[in-house]
Amino acid sequence: MEAFVSRFVDRVTIHVAAGDGGNGCASVHREKYKPLGGPDGGNGGRGGDVRLVVDPGVHTLLDFHHRPHARASNGKQGRGSMRNGAIGEDLVLSVPEGTVVLTPDGEVLADLVGAGTTFVAAEGGRGGLGNAALSSKARRAPGFALLGEPGGEHDLVLELKSVADAGLVGFPSAGKSSLISVLSAAKPKIADYPFTTLVPNLGVVTAGDTVFTVADVPGLIPGASEGRGLGLDFLRHIERCAVLVHVVDCATQEPGRDPLSDVDALEEELARYTPALKTEHGAGDLESRPRLVVLNKMDVPEARELAELVRPELAQRGWPVFEVSTASHEGLRELRFALAEAVEEYRAEQPEPEPARTIVRPLGVGDTGFTVEPDPDFEDAFIVRGEKPERWVRQTQFDNDEAVGFLADRLAKLGVEEALAKQGAKPGSQVTIGAVTFDWEPSTPAGVAGVLGGRGSDLRLDQDERISAHERKAAKKARRTSLDEEGGYVGE
Ligand code: GDP
Ligand code: MG
Repeated sequence: MEAFVSRFVDRVTIHVAAGDGGNGCASVHREKYKPLGGPDGGNGGRGGDVRLVVDPGVHTLLDFHHRPHARASNGKQGRGSMRNGAIGEDLVLSVPEGTVVLTPDGEVLADLVGAGTTFVAAEGGRGGLGNAALSSKARRAPGFALLGEPGGEHDLVLELKSVADAGLVGFPSAGKSSLISVLSAAKPKIADYPFTTLVPNLGVVTAGDTVFTVADVPGLIPGASEGRGLGLDFLRHIERCAVLVHVVDCATQEPGRDPLSDVDALEEELARYTPALKTEHGAGDLESRPRLVVLNKMDVPEARELAELVRPELAQRGWPVFEVSTASHEGLRELRFALAEAVEEYRAEQPEPEPARTIVRPLGVGDTGFTVEPDPDFEDAFIVRGEKPERWVRQTQFDNDEAVGFLADRLAKLGVEEALAKQGAKPGSQVTIGAVTFDWEPSTPAGVAGVLGGRGSDLRLDQDERISAHERKAAKKARRTSLDEEGGYVGE
């Protein structure tokens, strides 16, 4: 049974990659006939995000089946003369209302409801600070800059449960599948839908300006609401349908069956069904949902006669009745527009859409903390984990001694040196942070406490004659213009 349900659910795995941050620039101000000026390397631009945004004009995940890879653009490098690199452009992917975002392990990250609601699927990498932003009293002319960070990359699963605007109910062989295929035949896109199991169970229909989906509810037979057959599972999925369509076989030869008793039997099932989604957005009971009746197989003369007989009684119930043939295509245009109208009416009646929200992927690690643990694979080796230390390592140009010294200062300030010492690390111990392993050289081998005491305050705040007010102002400005609100320089 599960297999049938998941067939009905549109589901796709996508790979999203945000843009990388641009590198910061290390440059020194030059002017003709003047001594070298202060550092003037600009910051790298932030990489673009990949964002999923709810678009009321999108109704399926079809486009993602065709293009499952998405990459936003990179930030540009900073340049001399305090020029910051350009920001990478965000990549915005439109998703239908009700799209659920999951990890490949099935953890729900977001349920996207409300036009404009945004899920930041992959965050652009921060740009690296240039040497202008990194300058301080203690480091007047840094000969290095920070590297931009790689953008986030993730596999995500998108799931859409409420795929159908119109749900077709009817006895087996009434012509539901045929109806979907002829209604949506004008939409060639559906023909190359990669999941053949969804065809002919789901169709995208266009009528005038209205685009909507029609889904088959196979296996809805008397007894379905008690769990007979597959009907119950499918009923669950049509709770968000705007309109229910009775597809009635007017040419059936089966004893005891006729259009009126067929419709009654199915109505009984719909009435008995207790909605499971009552508390969710847009769900409600099926009984109050508008209905249309399609009397099918009008190309068969006996079917037409029977239709004329039962039409008045069905019309009395207040339901619009359509006589069609999926074989001769009679009556399809009228039906298509009537469905579109019912769908539009339902959409207009829906409660005020939820206000748009922006949801950012939750961070895996506590954002300010870090941990130090012995490396289980090696003697006298330690692993440092944490958002900041790992980021700082990614930002470091390891072939530049000054940059490495800067990293060491940052780690000491955060308390990493102290924590390493507590864990029993000694000079020469192997320390791994992120992708980098190095031999530990504590900034002051004698004792980490001394290190902290000496470097705990922000040296830039001290007054000092050697650094001009102008230089201080320039560095401050460069940091402010950085998009990296957390800064990332020593003293944060
Ligand atoms: P479903 O079980 O409700 O999905 O029904 P199908 O669409 O699979 O159709 C069942 C049978 O009825 C198939 O043999 C179709 O060819 C036939 N059928 C469907 N629509 C018509 C129609 O308008 N006229 C005639 N003569 N046969 C039809
Ligand atoms: Mg069928």
